[in-house]
Amino acid sequence: MTVLFDPSPQILAPTSTGDLFPVRRVFCVGRNYADHAREMGSDPDREPPFFFTKWAETVIGDGAELPYPQATTNFHHEVELVVAIGAGGRNISAAEALNHVWGYAVGLDMTRRDLQFAARDTGRPWDTGKNVEAASPLGCIHPAAGFGDGSSGRIELKVNGQVRQSSDISQMIWSAPEVIACLSGYYRLHPGDLIYTGTPAGVGPVVPGDEMRAEIDGLSPLRVRVVGPAR
Ligand code: MN
Repeated sequence: MTVLFDPSPQILAPTSTGDLFPVRRVFCVGRNYADHAREMGSDPDREPPFFFTKWAETVIGDGAELPYPQATTNFHHEVELVVAIGAGGRNISAAEALNHVWGYAVGLDMTRRDLQFAARDTGRPWDTGKNVEAASPLGCIHPAAGFGDGSSGRIELKVNGQVRQSSDISQMIWSAPEVIACLSGYYRLHPGDLIYTGTPAGVGPVVPGDEMRAEIDGLSPLRVRVVGPAR
């Protein structure tokens, strides 16, 4: 038998140990900081976290160029703590959750906000707003042992040197262990899964030529340049 065309390449994310982390799936948490929930017009009550997904192939690395996507005029940055799963499981308890974490990274959940809002306002899925080519930039993944439990640390995004988002990951409504516990109640998690854990207030648009720099204390910065339209 012949394989008819080249299979899609495995995404291999760099880590601070020099090893490569094979990305399996990308999960994202919606509205996990109260100030961002408010700026989106939602009540930041502690209702259970909700999730959406992106293709693994939307992950791009530090230093990459991000082609401005088609079908939007309002492409937004969302800086987020990313949890990298190293051991799978279903129905993981929050108390056990950190045993399933390989490490952490800085990520960007780039969003076609105009399409996301149109979907939200009509009760339709978010996919075209969120699951967009190159829309999941990911920094170098650091092993959990060197970073701690992901419960606190400054999180910040600058565009062209100007601070756009600045908060602390202690402000997350649902902690990383709680997110893992909830998500593993819906899916068996697998090694290689990434969880983008939500963004603080200050989201906003970028345009071609913009330089984004995302930082979380204790992790490598993530630098991405937005370039001319995707072809
Ligand atoms: Mn997000």
